[in-house]
Amino acid sequence: MLEQLIGDSQALGKAISGEELSYNDGIELMNYDNLHMLGAVADLTRKKLAGSTVTFAASYYMNYTNVCAASCQMCAFYRKDGADDAYTLTPEQIEQRVSIAKDMGATEVHIVGGFHPKLPLEYYEEMMRIIKKNHPQLKIKALTAAEIFYLSKLTKNSVKEILSRLKDAGLDSMPGGGAELFHPDIRGKIVRGKCSGQEWLDTIEQAHNLGIKSNVTMLYGHIEKPEHIVDHLIKIRQLQKKTGGFITLIPLKFSLDNTELEQEHLVNHECSSVYDLRVIALSRLMLANTLNNISVYWVAYGKKLAQVALSNGGNDLVGTAFSEEIYRAAGKPTASSVDELATMVKEIGMVPAQRDTYFNIIKKF
Ligand code: SF4
Repeated sequence: MLEQLIGDSQALGKAISGEELSYNDGIELMNYDNLHMLGAVADLTRKKLAGSTVTFAASYYMNYTNVCAASCQMCAFYRKDGADDAYTLTPEQIEQRVSIAKDMGATEVHIVGGFHPKLPLEYYEEMMRIIKKNHPQLKIKALTAAEIFYLSKLTKNSVKEILSRLKDAGLDSMPGGGAELFHPDIRGKIVRGKCSGQEWLDTIEQAHNLGIKSNVTMLYGHIEKPEHIVDHLIKIRQLQKKTGGFITLIPLKFSLDNTELEQEHLVNHECSSVYDLRVIALSRLMLANTLNNISVYWVAYGKKLAQVALSNGGNDLVGTAFSEEIYRAAGKPTASSVDELATMVKEIGMVPAQRDTYFNIIKKF
């Protein structure tokens, strides 16, 4: 039945029969005009690969510093060292936050920050040790591949050395940030002072080889073209086939407010919900059978659109996002309880489940 409805779309035909989609298939689907059909095939693929359970983690977000040596055009979070509202958490403040995370029932702490030009590697090692000492069960998901790469340059240690030392200090896994879009034609226009796409991929590959699993993100909805999205997804797929180290893909909608891209009028409004759904559906179809978790970051979408995205290929809501500051800096409301997320999932007739960092189910609702 579905085969008849998709008409002459070769790419959707391949997706339905479970074949891997090519670069050209991806471009076709980014331009395919029947969004409902694209979403229906992505939904069908999600059912086959991930079932009807929608997962989320109880996550506590800790942004240890907003001081950053880079100045990305897409970022509203960074401050220069010495700015009035610049901050860096002290060991005591980290301890306090861990205690809050514990009280909230968080199972993981998600830690990212700016590229601080003066913090030594020992600061990060101490951070991990404080967390593990105060809350041994809390999984530490910390530092993006971009931060690790910067730290390697700053401290003149190899990426492998940095990762090994942090793993010894308690690092469990890594968030997927800093990936943005890998393609050099677009990356140079949205980030300034951050590693290249290839350097990000090489860094995360080394993490995977050391047994440190990670997420991966894709920042879209700014000045990219369809080819940049498809290129990004294919590079993720290639690395996943090699290492198997990615846990989930989190497509991140660009949040406009207070960024240089907005101030320079390079982007005047956020992308449409229709585009959001297309990106989620394409992510599901391009990565099918290679990376079967596609996360819908409700903080960026709002809860209503997140519900729709779960019917367009998504199978995960990321997490509660307590204390998320990066999207808050760009004007988005954040934080939700596990029960609220479970209700969101029940409202669309799917089965909510709390998961851990690695997608093991902790509790069904
Ligand atoms: S995106 Fe990250 S690296 Fe770029 S300016 Fe913001 S905090 Fe710094």
